Amino acid sequence: CANIYLSIYLSPCETKKKADHVRKHGVKQFINQYNKLKDRQKDVLYWGDEVEYMLIRFDHENRLGQLFLNSSQLLQALQQPEFQSPGNTPTLWRPEYAGYMVEGTPGSPFGGLMAHLNLVEANMKLRREEIRKLLGPDEVPMCITSFPRTGCPNFVYPSHKPQPQSEESFSRSLFFPDAAIHSSHPRFKTLTRNIRERRKEKVAINIPIFKDKNTMSPFVEDFSEYGDTGEASTAAKPDHIYMDSMGFGMGCCCLQLTFQACNIGEARLLYDHLAPICPIMMALSAASPIYRGYLSDYDCRWSVIAQAVDDRTREERGLEPLKNDRFLINKSRYDSIDSYLSEMGRCYNDLDLVYDKEIFEQLRDSDIDDLLAQHIAHLFIRDPISLFSEKIHQDDTKDTDHFENIQSTNWQSLRFKPPPPNSNIGWRVEFRPMEVQLSDFENAAYVVFIVLVTRVILTFKLNFMIPISKVDENMVTAQKKDAVREGKFYFRKDVITANSPPEAAECVGCCEVIKQRIDEEYTLMSINEIINGKDDFPGLIPLVNKYLEYSECDVDTRCTVLQYLQLISNRASGKLMTMAQWTRKFVLTHADYKQDSVVNENITYDLLVECEKIASGEKPCPELFFNLSVQPLSFFFCLFSTLQLIYSFSQLITFCCLFKP
Ligand code: ADP
Ligand code: MG
Ligand code: MG
Ligand code: MG
Ligand code: MG
Repeated sequence: CANIYLSIYLSPCETKKKADHVRKHGVKQFINQYNKLKDRQKDVLYWGDEVEYMLIRFDHENRLGQLFLNSSQLLQALQQPEFQSPGNTPTLWRPEYAGYMVEGTPGSPFGGLMAHLNLVEANMKLRREEIRKLLGPDEVPMCITSFPRTGCPNFVYPSHKPQPQSEESFSRSLFFPDAAIHSSHPRFKTLTRNIRERRKEKVAINIPIFKDKNTMSPFVEDFSEYGDTGEASTAAKPDHIYMDSMGFGMGCCCLQLTFQACNIGEARLLYDHLAPICPIMMALSAASPIYRGYLSDYDCRWSVIAQAVDDRTREERGLEPLKNDRFLINKSRYDSIDSYLSEMGRCYNDLDLVYDKEIFEQLRDSDIDDLLAQHIAHLFIRDPISLFSEKIHQDDTKDTDHFENIQSTNWQSLRFKPPPPNSNIGWRVEFRPMEVQLSDFENAAYVVFIVLVTRVILTFKLNFMIPISKVDENMVTAQKKDAVREGKFYFRKDVITANSPPEAAECVGCCEVIKQRIDEEYTLMSINEIINGKDDFPGLIPLVNKYLEYSECDVDTRCTVLQYLQLISNRASGKLMTMAQWTRKFVLTHADYKQDSVVNENITYDLLVECEKIASGEKPCPELFFNLSVQPLSFFFCLFSTLQLIYSFSQLITFCCLFKP
């Protein structure tokens, strides 16, 4: 069946031949849409999250926790209500890369009312419940960013062996069997094969290993027992955990949110100001310290995915002189954004942007400004990596499939989403760097925090922009072990004063004076300082609190939001652990851990059992979060009385002081 399906996709070679066709029409489609929608005004805030889940199957007798390859079957059931009554369901379900993953979103986006902030957690709970109802007693959905033993023998149920030597294999991985790729839709297998064939070798993922007392040193593995014929031993770097297929990255889960701006200008501004927030939120949400059964020196999934879908050829990566390919490309198609979009961001665009000059001219000739034109022309340096045979010929005045083909396989930290054709949806921005959290409470907290940050940016006209090259440096810092406590991040010193941005004309040459002025605008700060503030910097949480003071909000919502902000604040200050820190501690203190960086099946089983207890609320985990949301009102009164107590105490002290001799 899979093969019949696959035939509707073009072969890698045919896809490559059609690359120019897709790009040519994709750009036309964007131009047509842009001209129709550029003046669209007065859309209102809508926002919605995407949560990805892994399906875990426990075998308690044998102390095993495995990834359960059941998403095709599960999705059929999960999507039933939507098929029966489209547009009328509280939740929506979509396939994801792996056969053990599903993605859930609210049935319709939330709106701009403060009270809507109070709905997202309940909706997330409902989603989890919907999955649970369809699974057996020992099968559970879990929000885990990276499964500790992905790629280890027996990590999936039912068990499958990889077939690296088989011509039929899509990934040729030594570790990740094709059977673990989602199978009811051919897109994921097609992408896997086409990325490998475009690159002309398997993807090579190297993540620094966490070196413990008994870790082999240098850490070099022998892959011959897996069937390596030399590619792996060459591609694997010493002291790194080596992985060789798309599944290691795209098989990770994440937490995303999308929000609608009132017009294209506001969308461009939000996109820009959120760019420097991406690395900060990645470090704050860090949740993935283990890969292929080894503790790593990274806490986040980001560079694993970036390497997992890097389809650049050796020429494009700069390892050989350009001969057959067109561009030297500095990043994978999954990575952080390369340019700001708003006029205000112009002078902070200091990366040497690679873009397709012809496409750029075509966009400019259609009256699209240079900043937007270069963004699109940058996305369009990529080839399409999957193409439906029926979708080749399109009406560029109505369809947008070719544009979406390129857009949706540029997996960047932010996505600028134009309105879909014939819809009442406006210009949107998607925030994509965050790792998924164990519980609904935490996921809701991170999502609500970002929604509030967008409101704060717009209401107080804040400015977060720093040179985009510095945002990239922050992205590297953010992934490292314990970045939330130890990392220093470039951040704007003054986010409040509306510094008049350098004039566009001044920026074009970006003369030394402007460069110098910009360099004085930012400094290195810790996550704690950025989030909670310090003497000369207000901090994001205090700014959000200020915004809340002005906004009308019922007590219940305010209590909920208060707890969410408390979580973010405490994670930033180090009072609470990130999921990554907590997971590390769990492994390092497990009786079965031999200080050799190895996370075996036994430790993994105990870790998963513990995670399930915490996520289901069966066991509190005060190291990770205090969730008092069950009784928000009593919490509020408790807080209120504490404040009162402090107040009367201070009165008492003042009173006593008056009588001091
Ligand atoms: P993708 O996978 O392309 O990123 P999804 O459709 O999975 O997008 O999820 C997009 C999110 O955007 C969902 O949470 C959805 O509720 C939300 N959403 C839908 N319509 C709008 C809108 N008009 N404005 C903002 N968000 C929206
Ligand atoms: Mg989605
Ligand atoms: Mg998606
Ligand atoms: Mg997804
Ligand atoms: Mg998304």
